[in-house]
Amino acid sequence: MLSTTTRLLPLPVLLLSALTASAENLNAHQHGQAELQLAMDGQSVELMALSPAHNLLGFEHEPRTEAEREAVESALAWLTDTPLINTVSGSCSIQTSEVHYAYAGDEGDDAHQEDHGHYEEYGDHEHEHHDGGEATHTDIEVFQTLNCPDLAPDSQLVTPLREQFPAIEDLDIEWAGPEGQGALRLEPGIAEFSLEP
Ligand SMILES: [Zn+2]
Repeated sequence: MLSTTTRLLPLPVLLLSALTASAENLNAHQHGQAELQLAMDGQSVELMALSPAHNLLGFEHEPRTEAEREAVESALAWLTDTPLINTVSGSCSIQTSEVHYAYAGDEGDDAHQEDHGHYEEYGDHEHEHHDGGEATHTDIEVFQTLNCPDLAPDSQLVTPLREQFPAIEDLDIEWAGPEGQGALRLEPGIAEFSLEP
């Protein structure tokens, strides 16, 4: 997409961009589902997580009450500070972390909710009433760069996502690295996985 900057990006970012591009057609905003994309390169992991806000917050409208604002603040803080995958030994540390959410405190730079194929399940009744926000679906995206000193191609990995957010039922993982690439789905109750081409 941004070809002028591509040559400046390290390998994992390029891999992740390729994955993201390929996943865009598959992605549909579906409550209960979330996606994790991993680009591995030695000890370095670039990841992107994409989830309907409903899975993480319990709602998708602009937060209106103090309780809703607190739910947003707490979820975004957790997503910023917690490696979304880790080795079994917990060795991964966050190098960079960025969360995209349309109603985050700073006025949204670009409304990401428009980027993804949303269901229009509420139809077009009430289409004159945009203030309610109920007709809009909202995604949350997380971008992290991790350093995992004991990461090996056959490492067992864990994700804390579903323990933190039980509303995520199916977690689809796509990955790419020097060993190849693959995809798997973590069924409910499973937190550990390994990457096998
Ligand atoms: Zn939704």
